[in-house]
Parts: sequence; C-alpha cells; structure tokens
Amino acid sequence: MSYSSNAYCRYCNKLIGYERTVNGKNMPVDIPRVNYYPDPNGKDTILNGRGETVRGIIDYGDAPGSKKGWVPHFISCVKYKRETPPPRKEPKKEPDNQMSLFGK
Ligand SMILES: [Zn+2]
Repeated sequence: MSYSSNAYCRYCNKLIGYERTVNGKNMPVDIPRVNYYPDPNGKDTILNGRGETVRGIIDYGDAPGSKKGWVPHFISCVKYKRETPPPRKEPKKEPDNQMSLFGK
C-alpha cells in the first residue's frame, strides 16, 4: 500500500495522510478511508489506494461491494487555497546586536 505517513494539514490543522500517486507525488488525503463505488461518471474523486485517481460515488455506510479509497484532502479542506498558509516565522536579523557580539 502506498499510503505513507500522517501529518497535519498546514491550512486547517486536520490530521491527514499521504498517498503516493502513480505520478510520484504525495497527495494529502482525508483520514479515515472511505467506501466508494467506482463509477466513471461519479461526482467524487477518490484515490484508490494504488496511487490512482478514480471517479466514483462515496458511500459513508459500509455497503457490500464497495471499495476502500481515500478522499483527497484538498476537496474537503475548508481552507485549502482559499487563503494563503501562514508565513514561516523567520528570526529578524539584527545586525547591530550581532556586531556587538564580536565586541569592539
Ligand atoms: Zn486542510
């Protein structure tokens, strides 16, 4: 299974997983897995657990005949791409103080 590791979404802080796609990219996915029916005309996008993105219909019940897959997190994330992630904090350079470290 190509599912790799857990992480927290940097947009909404939700616990997510990563699945490596056939293109070699790590796509963030929702936890837990969902059941779905493969359907080329389905409205939902699902990662099928083998790194492939497929269309289907998610079934949040546990219906027989359904398959297990992952929902890409960018679909459910409430903040993804709706706001920019918080900037990384970088320590401010204070050349005056650093100079004083070397003494005069
Ligand atoms: Zn998110």
